[in-house]
Amino acid sequence: MSAVSMSGDTGGGERALQLAAALKGVQERIARSCASAGRPADSVLLVAVTKTWPASDVRLLAQLGVADVAESREQEAGPKHDACADLGLRWHFVGQLQRNKAVAVARWAHCVESVDREPLVAALGRAMQQHEEARDLAVLVQVDLETGGGNEGEVTPGARRGGARPDDVPRLADLVDSTPGLALHGLMAVAPRAADPAAAFARLALLAERVRVDHPHARVLSAGMSSDLEAAVAAGATQVRIGSALLGNRPPLR
Ligand SMILES: *Cc1c(COP(=O)(O)O)cnc(C)c1O
Repeated sequence: MSAVSMSGDTGGGERALQLAAALKGVQERIARSCASAGRPADSVLLVAVTKTWPASDVRLLAQLGVADVAESREQEAGPKHDACADLGLRWHFVGQLQRNKAVAVARWAHCVESVDREPLVAALGRAMQQHEEARDLAVLVQVDLETGGGNEGEVTPGARRGGARPDDVPRLADLVDSTPGLALHGLMAVAPRAADPAAAFARLALLAERVRVDHPHARVLSAGMSSDLEAAVAAGATQVRIGSALLGNRPPLR
């Protein structure tokens, strides 16, 4: 069953009500987490992960006040962006990015959150230089939290979600910051599958602090998804990436 048919003929009104209720629930979770952490409720940006869901859902979320959306596959995201170009949204790319897709992603993305290796930095820099409009692409360096936490042995092959080894992150951050057309905004990570998210996010927060010594403006910490946003906010996340808690369970990506 496709995402389109899942949200299709029941009528936009019903889907709008569904999304409004889910959005309210997520906003309440964020507000409660901020309150427990002694942080202002507006210190965490909600990024709606709309991968697999149709442009009509993006439109409904925009009407409900969502300003930031994220996608993980260029071939799906480019057309969806174009169908929603009138909405004034900020588009984030959060998926594994091949170098040969850098130009395509740079066309519509405001922020690439999944930069995890040097050749990709160079490719995105070159892509931005091909643009007529002079704007910087916001970049987050993605950190692999599966490594460096003492649980490497538990990582099953093929389970990698991308990300640079923690030791490589400061050097990658330097490289992004010195590449024309790119602006280093901070770090992103996905919690490891098998480990305690709180411990992993604490390691991420320490690494972010270290990066900010040399790059004080790189204040974005993108961590937390539907299942672990509370732990991420407690650890200092400034933005959370929420898919299923907003839009429902996705059909499998592969
Ligand atoms: C799909 C995805 C999300 C959203 O995950 P949910 O568990 O559905 O909230 C967040 N971050 C990345 C990198 C993703 O690929």
